[in-house]
Amino acid sequence: MATALITGASQGIGECIAKRLAKDGFDIAVNHYPSDGDKAKAEAVAEACRALGVKAEIFAADVSKFDQCADMVKEVKDTFGSLDALVNNAGITKDTLLTLMSEEQYDQVIAVNQKSVFNMMKPAIKVMMKQKHGAIVNMASVAGLYGNPGQINYAASKAAIIGMTMTAAKEVGARNIRVNAVAPGLIKTPMTDVLTDEQKSKIFERIALKRFGEVEEIASVVAFLLSDSASYITGQTIEISGGLEM
Ligand code: NAP
Repeated sequence: MATALITGASQGIGECIAKRLAKDGFDIAVNHYPSDGDKAKAEAVAEACRALGVKAEIFAADVSKFDQCADMVKEVKDTFGSLDALVNNAGITKDTLLTLMSEEQYDQVIAVNQKSVFNMMKPAIKVMMKQKHGAIVNMASVAGLYGNPGQINYAASKAAIIGMTMTAAKEVGARNIRVNAVAPGLIKTPMTDVLTDEQKSKIFERIALKRFGEVEEIASVVAFLLSDSASYITGQTIEISGGLEM
């Protein structure tokens, strides 16, 4: 049985990806931020995956911390016997205009969204190289492709992920490891629940499909990229935004 590790999988897009990959037959490693609230939510996600007939366990790690990521990858490998798919999903926002943003707000978002991708890919790819196969999907954003006012930190982190995805894909393609990214637009999750109705209707005007995306619409593309159906796709970033910018 193949094993998939999803970071930040206690809610939102990560939760949905975990359940979708469980449906597809992966054993699931549910990463959660090390807090009691997140642990309880992650356990519920793991239980839902088990109900689909696969193995699932939870793994606490702050993905902005290099050592915690290395330990988690080792634990996942020891628990399930392999690590075949990695989804670097965990992310945060600390939005405000550039001139108002503190250094701390900038650094936190870079650490959680961007450095985490290095922290996770380095140990995971070492395992995948020994196995001679693996697939990774990194969670970028339309903010990384086009920019977004109030998100200089977030846009920087997500643009970097796109460059890291292409670089890693070129480094490990010969080892039968594929690395891709998805760039969601506005998706209904706790991250976007905070937007006001006015902000939402302004955004709808710019979306060709005139609605927010559903988490399942991200999970299905991630599942495709991790599957053999995408066996000749690597280094790509697939935008999933309902036609936000064209
Ligand atoms: P979400 O509901 O806030 O979920 C993010 C998850 O990541 C949460 O469970 C969060 O835990 C976890 N997390 C945060 N910091 C972490 C850390 N240091 N270590 C481990 N886990 C951590 O957000 P979402 O909307 O599902 O977003 C998931 C990903 O999609 C993110 O990378 C986001 O940037 C990206 N994305 C989302 C949208 C959208 O419209 N929703 C659009 C484009 C891209 P806590 O709850 O404890 O913080």
